Amino acid sequence: MPEGKIIKALSGFYYVLNEEKIIQCRGRGIFRKQNITPLVGDYVEYEAENDKEGYVLSIEERKNELTRPPIANLDQAVLVFSAMEPSFSTTLLDRFLVLIESKDIEPIICITKTDLLNKVDELAHYVSNYRNIGYTVIETSSETFNGLEALGDYLKGKTSVFAGQSGVGKSSLLNAIRPDLRLKTDEISNSLGRGKHTTRHVELIPAAGGLVADTPGFSSLDFEGIEVEELSSCFPEMAERSNACKFRGCIHVNEPKCAIKKAVEDGDIPTHRYDHYLQFIEEIKERKPRY
Ligand code: GDP
Ligand code: ZN
Repeated sequence: MPEGKIIKALSGFYYVLNEEKIIQCRGRGIFRKQNITPLVGDYVEYEAENDKEGYVLSIEERKNELTRPPIANLDQAVLVFSAMEPSFSTTLLDRFLVLIESKDIEPIICITKTDLLNKVDELAHYVSNYRNIGYTVIETSSETFNGLEALGDYLKGKTSVFAGQSGVGKSSLLNAIRPDLRLKTDEISNSLGRGKHTTRHVELIPAAGGLVADTPGFSSLDFEGIEVEELSSCFPEMAERSNACKFRGCIHVNEPKCAIKKAVEDGDIPTHRYDHYLQFIEEIKERKPRY
């Protein structure tokens, strides 16, 4: 049975990529009865009727799944943050990181517009903090093309979604990586935050030897579905130390002999990370989305 990956879902058709071919498929009736909707990103088995058309027969188990935009089996999320305009925000970055960690997707931090920095090392402190945690941080500029090759290397062979506030340079990056793409800057910006994305379809497009979602991910930034107890597992530098806390189930707020608080005091966990952790704990307790 031929296999492939759904790269586009539109008007009841699933476009399945198999090597260089794209087969336009319908879903099996049984999917509807079982309430299964094939998603962009799904690995599927299909039956070919001819060179161009076929039926999706089965869907492989998903390793992860986003709802906004609806897409499955992401290898990584490229978190796009501008060095300036809008200014670099670790609060927002930590929020994105939590959301991505909670979905078991690998984050890549991409700092854009580095050409706007007066001093090259203005963000160096943060960059090294995030690298020390173990995150990949790529510094880029779509003006000077700095860092784009490095970004391309990370996209190779992977399925990625770009995420980040509007105006940070996501479409400029995508255009630079794949010049024939010509994403409309406004279109992609509008799909973030203004609720216009309901009718837009998602598509995975080939770029830099990988597949990239043409719609930015994580358009909703609240911590829906994340519980207080699991928040620290979304902070790798806390997760790796939490066994050393005196109390099982320590949430690292008021408990004595807490290894996390100790690590913050010793400077082993950046203060801004822990502060955001506390802020997010409060937010989860209140369950009031802030964005
Ligand atoms: P998006 O909303 O995240 O897709 O952001 P855009 O790609 O539309 O970029 C927003 C604005 O920032 C546009 O005016 C771009 O020209 C500008 N911009 C994007 N990347 C860079 C960059 O690397 N350097 C500079 N100086 N400006 C950039
Ligand atoms: Zn603790």
